[in-house]
Amino acid sequence: MELAHAEAAETLAAATPAPNGPPAPRRVLTHSAMEAWSRCEVEYRLAYEERLVPTAYPAALAVGTAVHAGVETLHLGLPLPEAYRSAALALQRFLDRACSGAGTDTPADLERQLEFDMAKVRAMLAAWTDRYLVPAADGTHAVDRDLDIVATEQVLEAPLVNPLTGRPSRSFRLAGKLDAIARRRGNGSDGSYVVELKTTGEDLDEFLEAMTVSAQPAVYQVLAESRFGAGHGQLPGTVLDIIRKPTIRPKKDESPAEFEQRAIEAYRSEPERFVRRVVLPPDPQLRREVMVNAWRIADGIRRAERYGYVSKKGPACRGAYGPCRYRPLCWHGDATGFVTKETEHEELLEGP
Ligand code: SF4
Repeated sequence: MELAHAEAAETLAAATPAPNGPPAPRRVLTHSAMEAWSRCEVEYRLAYEERLVPTAYPAALAVGTAVHAGVETLHLGLPLPEAYRSAALALQRFLDRACSGAGTDTPADLERQLEFDMAKVRAMLAAWTDRYLVPAADGTHAVDRDLDIVATEQVLEAPLVNPLTGRPSRSFRLAGKLDAIARRRGNGSDGSYVVELKTTGEDLDEFLEAMTVSAQPAVYQVLAESRFGAGHGQLPGTVLDIIRKPTIRPKKDESPAEFEQRAIEAYRSEPERFVRRVVLPPDPQLRREVMVNAWRIADGIRRAERYGYVSKKGPACRGAYGPCRYRPLCWHGDATGFVTKETEHEELLEGP
């Protein structure tokens, strides 16, 4: 979604790739798909080739998606109650899918979980608002204190390039949805930054350390540069906004509203522990490694298709954050808790 930031929006529009040239490859490779392949080739096949998704309510993913929807609404200059509405809609989609499946939770259990997850999301959005939004000069709405948002929710594509020959792949292109593109106020540079929002249950220092070696900022930098067109050069970096999920849990007999209030107080008492913004400069060495790996993954997918074989990854079945969500289907052939996705890359769909 583009914003009415006239000058920057024009720059983006002018940078749209020319329509002539060879047709782009039909298949896309996203950061999520690369992560799935790296975790387990069978998971990739089930999720991205057979387009199957578990219906079970994925609490962490649902909360993260809802916070993204809310922050995007705030980036558009709309007030907090509108952000709550966008977030609630995003959560409701996960609930609808869960209710359509054959999970063990009853709709009443799920409704209750949704109420507390929404309380969590509202507290996270309030914490982000407290930290980064200030009244606009004309007093009509709130704006980001550091960033001039140029565009939000950018679904972008770029050629996947052979790192040895420099030729683009004829099978895959890179794709991803960036949370926003923005200029930083008062830093003496008019370059545009990729803005990425992250939610986590981890300690922020540890999470940040992991992000400095993550492939995602490098992939998104490549995508953003492609959007600005050949000759634009490298972007000056990625603004990473991180919100830690509440570390408190609902007490017995506590209402969602009471839980939300406690979470807001916890955020206000230690903002630096829960909400942080850092700028990651480009890392050319990491970027090269990430692009070599992306090429290897695309090559691995093509070879697996040729041989008709994908390998299982035993350690991933248990997973660092709980068992693999595809286990019932993969281990026992039980497809009852799965539905077919509209598209293999749901993360690229419009909207949260
Ligand atoms: S259960 Fe294990 S082998 Fe099967 S998809 Fe998941 S991680 Fe891969």
